[in-house]
Amino acid sequence: MLHRRRFLQLGSLGLGAFSFAGSTAGKAAARKPIVISTWDAGIEANKAAWKVLRSGGRALDAVEQGVMITEASQNCCVGLGANPDRDGYVTLDSCIMDEKANCGSVAFLERIKHPVSVARRVMEKTPHVMLVGSGAQQFAIEEGFPLEPSKLSEEAERDYQNWLKKSEYKPVINIENTKKQTAFVPIKYDNGEWNHDTIGMVAMDAAGNLSGSCTTSGMGFKMRGRLGDSPIIGAGLFVDNEVGAATATGQGEDVIRICGSHLVVELMRQGLSPEAACKKAVERIIKIKGDAAKDIQVGFIAINKQGEYGGYCIQKGFNFAVCYADDKNFMVEGRFVL
Ligand code: ASP
Repeated sequence: MLHRRRFLQLGSLGLGAFSFAGSTAGKAAARKPIVISTWDAGIEANKAAWKVLRSGGRALDAVEQGVMITEASQNCCVGLGANPDRDGYVTLDSCIMDEKANCGSVAFLERIKHPVSVARRVMEKTPHVMLVGSGAQQFAIEEGFPLEPSKLSEEAERDYQNWLKKSEYKPVINIENTKKQTAFVPIKYDNGEWNHDTIGMVAMDAAGNLSGSCTTSGMGFKMRGRLGDSPIIGAGLFVDNEVGAATATGQGEDVIRICGSHLVVELMRQGLSPEAACKKAVERIIKIKGDAAKDIQVGFIAINKQGEYGGYCIQKGFNFAVCYADDKNFMVEGRFVL
């Protein structure tokens, strides 16, 4: 377990092979505010979210401002600097949800720097939940979001040129007579990392209200037009202010299959801790996939109304970042490798 500590030790909380949970068992008061988010990028994103939360701000603002940091940074898998699809275009997916079950989403969005903010505008300014493709881009421009250049970042251009050498798509299904293959097992790089890294963030503010956000470029070198779980409310993200909030990362197709984040929240409603709920959702995917589960990664993280948090994933190597105020109102910050 790797972790960073601020002001207070995180203590000797138990760590399973692929899971980590923080519990407030035995304490009457909920642990709040709290924010957790996926992967290492979550550390910086949490800091931005924390600025909002520590000053008594809304969880909704925290989860938007938090993931905007990742969207604006150079990242393989979030924002305009990310890896393109196999035709060379970066397409972005994002969604956001608040404590009143208001939600907004954009998908297959090109050349807009902050899809999470466009998703929020969809939520707040339209009668709809989801806008996609050129319609989402048109709406963003009408809302004043600048149209950014379509050029790939240096890193993405390099990775794309490397990928093009083999165009290795490792098909699961082959459709005869098509030049390109139709489905794929996500690429694992030589260093063992997966080629995907969505940021999903869920938070509870000092007033006890929950919100969440999720933003990604999806899988690198995906088929043009492919959407994963991340912009889909219930799959990549779900918030129920009576129960808790969950978000997902990893192979979106398999998260969609089980309505992953909604499932995690419903399992918490039945009394499971965040960690146990994430574990059950992961087990459901493993059961469906059978042997093929060894070739994929999916991770869930969740918080409940008591401010307990947890995560679970299929493969080793998923991590998430946590930041909360403890019962003496000290900020505790951690990074957990599952
Ligand atoms: N869930 C994302 C997707 O399938 C990718 C990821 O989290 O890495 O698009």
